[in-house]
Amino acid sequence: MKRFVVAGFAVVAAAALHAQSSGGRIDWDKLRPEILQHYRSLVQLDTTSGHETRAVEYLKKVLEGEGIATQTFALNPARANLVARLKGNGSKRPLLILAHTDVVGVARERWPVDPFGAVLKDGYIWGRGSKDDKPVLAANLMAMLMLKRLGVQLDRDVIFLAESGEEADLEGVGMNYMVGEHFAEIDAEFAMTEGGGARIDGGRVTRVNIGTAEKLPARARLVARGTAGHGSVPRLDNALMHLGAAVDKVGRWETPMRLNDTTRAYFEKMAAISTPERASIYKALLDPKTAGDAQKFLREHSPGEYSMLRTSVVPTLLKAGVGPNVIPSEAEATLDIRALPDENIDAFFAEMPKVIADSAVAVERLPQTRPPSPASGLGTEMYRAMERVAGTIYPGATVIPSMSTGASDQAQLRAKGIQSYGIGPASTEADEINYPAHGDVERLAESSLYPFVQYVWNVVVEVAGHK
Ligand SMILES: [Zn+2]
Repeated sequence: MKRFVVAGFAVVAAAALHAQSSGGRIDWDKLRPEILQHYRSLVQLDTTSGHETRAVEYLKKVLEGEGIATQTFALNPARANLVARLKGNGSKRPLLILAHTDVVGVARERWPVDPFGAVLKDGYIWGRGSKDDKPVLAANLMAMLMLKRLGVQLDRDVIFLAESGEEADLEGVGMNYMVGEHFAEIDAEFAMTEGGGARIDGGRVTRVNIGTAEKLPARARLVARGTAGHGSVPRLDNALMHLGAAVDKVGRWETPMRLNDTTRAYFEKMAAISTPERASIYKALLDPKTAGDAQKFLREHSPGEYSMLRTSVVPTLLKAGVGPNVIPSEAEATLDIRALPDENIDAFFAEMPKVIADSAVAVERLPQTRPPSPASGLGTEMYRAMERVAGTIYPGATVIPSMSTGASDQAQLRAKGIQSYGIGPASTEADEINYPAHGDVERLAESSLYPFVQYVWNVVVEVAGHK
């Protein structure tokens, strides 16, 4: 490690002669070994849930080794969070760059290589966390090191956060702990973290997605109640029959379609870069007269995009019965509901019993795990900078804001008023399908790592650098 750090320092120090406070010209080719080394070292740490402090120790050593003070905040000592701050002149509010350190588990027998080896093979770095979320962690680390080495003058503080427990946080050790107990340490105007990405088609990056919004998980349980009895005697109030009918109705419920700034821009921009056939579908969505057929098409052929149109209701669990000859008095189903960011949840739940139209079935709301979070703006200084930088790092790519149908720790930040944006390194469609985050095997093209680090660096300098 030391060898690379020293080499990297010499390169950057030389580059600094030509560098303006805006970041100047850095010899990125010469920084590659250092970038790769930090990234691989982070992937090599098994930071599955409960072991996040391993990454914190690494980051602390690297940051403090270059004179950047760090603080750790730990509800559970094995699952610490790390914060480092480079001070600006205070003329603008801080920029928070964050990444989670934890990774999901592995089934080792499914891996062709050591899942914590960060093995370099066929142009890829293989390992758990190679996509989720260690590229962002490594890029953020590099940004901090470079800001410090180059002595970049800042209008904003740049705050680095490595958080634990993003994938599994039943103890509330990660973002909930930082937002709940140490918010002053991470409070910022803007944040940048996982939740976006970029697509490679035909060997070049054709689109860059910036995550600006996400849906809100709002789960519920349906409970059907009837008369218990012997399986030899049919009853019309059989709880299973009532539940079955209710599950079918809510599962097919077409809640109102509603676009927001992000999804409207998403479909407009997708229409501009898609095949004529697909473009006509996206355009049809934007016109209330033709939206119905377009929705039907997406429901069948692109469920992820269909989910961006509305609050979705998906039955996920059933629980009923004690034996083959017993009619149970109760049967229940769990619904995974993902609400649009502006959904009126109370009104939504008031509507559901009307859709079910069966007094034998009760709707019980489950506790919400995330706060409602407003979409981040498309006209902010941060978004515009990300768009501009994407155009220079990935020339010719279309920048598209996107709303995640899943949930992330950005929800807590947005709920606290931080405009938060999602980023990610570029992948081909095949790689996203065959080697996705959380998949059996995860990998990242080495050629995607370096432009991504540059992307993060340039955005940080544009948004936080002194002007
Ligand atoms: Zn992640």
